[in-house]
Amino acid sequence: MLPFTRRQTGIELPWTWCARCHRAYITGNARVVQFSSDALHPHPVRMVLCPYYDCNSSTRRHGWDWRSFQRQHPQYPYFPTTDVIYQD
Ligand SMILES: [Zn+2]
Repeated sequence: MLPFTRRQTGIELPWTWCARCHRAYITGNARVVQFSSDALHPHPVRMVLCPYYDCNSSTRRHGWDWRSFQRQHPQYPYFPTTDVIYQD
């Protein structure tokens, strides 16, 4: 279960569609993994991942704006539902 949903927030938030697992999530509802710096890696790496635990893809690389995706696939709803697979 994701941290929050549209119903819980009471406002309409932008959604992101994951091109790897084909599910949607509220934009920013991602998992952030922050590595600390060390001698070999002076600039700490920060990974922003798809919030679905069985996915692990980068939101920067695979996260698409739901509006753009939905415009190309008008059969899909204006507001997506979490845990539903929307095939490209
Ligand atoms: Zn995903």
